[in-house]
Amino acid sequence: MAKIIDGKAISQKIKDETRQRVMELSGKDIRVTLAVILVGDDPASQVYVRNKKRACEYCGIESREIHLPGETSEEELLALVNELNADPAVNGILVQLPVPPQIDGDKVIRAIDPSKDVDGFSPISVGALSIGLPGFRSCTPAGIIELLHRSGIETDGRECVIVGRSNIVGKPMAMLMLRENATVTVAHSHTKDLQEVTSRADILITAIGRAKFFTKEYVKEGAAVIDCGMDRDENGKLCGDVDYSDVFEKAGAITPVPGGVGPMTVAMLMHNCVEALQIQGLDRV
Ligand code: NAP
Repeated sequence: MAKIIDGKAISQKIKDETRQRVMELSGKDIRVTLAVILVGDDPASQVYVRNKKRACEYCGIESREIHLPGETSEEELLALVNELNADPAVNGILVQLPVPPQIDGDKVIRAIDPSKDVDGFSPISVGALSIGLPGFRSCTPAGIIELLHRSGIETDGRECVIVGRSNIVGKPMAMLMLRENATVTVAHSHTKDLQEVTSRADILITAIGRAKFFTKEYVKEGAAVIDCGMDRDENGKLCGDVDYSDVFEKAGAITPVPGGVGPMTVAMLMHNCVEALQIQGLDRV
């Protein structure tokens, strides 16, 4: 029977640690400010932004929410990003994705000053991560590393299989697991015999966006199973990429959905906002 990895409790701990650091900084008259830009009225994005705002309030981070109409042009959005880049009172900038189709999201991400890129999506952050330089780690993969560390799951020398190779989850995850000295395999939709590949994993990380895809046949006995998926089952209920009840008996440890990886992403965003001050050389004032 698997040990349940409690992302809710671990993320709460990270937020409490962040809140403590923010209070210490505030004692030195240093504020931490996150600017969040939302373009349009996508309901899921509105929920994500609201959650980030709440987390900021809890941690004592000032949040500046900028809500732009759906018909905002790329030029207008880029001008706003540049304005925030130049504003010394803003430590972190986040553009909620996806942006409407008239805007090139990648171009906007590239426009964010890398020292304020708290989502860790810019090519500079990703490049720094790849070659082991300091920089922002993207929030979901960084959150998974914290889940593993804080649950006492050994990574050194272990077989880790990541399924999914997106720029925001799979690829940065692979870089972080390499840093952890795991032996890393990245699988994707062209992988031949996926079951054979995932069955080798001591640590299986799934990020494909397919509800309950991974049944026990994909999982090695005793493996740690980390499920990034935020999917909907046949009844419209939130679930992961892993068939939780099927895999539960076989896995050694498992993250539930909800309550596993999900809450870690926002907690790590808060962590990155404080990290931003260090990167900007402001925390020593
Ligand atoms: P994405 O950009 O759609 O990428 C999906 C990846 O999965 C691709 O690399 C794709 O392979 C691979 N894939 C799809 N079907 C597959 C299959 N049948 N077998 C093997 N590989 C397959 O997705 P994403 O943005 O990384 O998100 C993945 C999941 O994580 C989603 O459920 C998303 O909601 C969730 N997510 C959660 C959080 C969080 O905070 N918890 C954050 C981000 C994402 P190809 O490259 O070959 O197409």
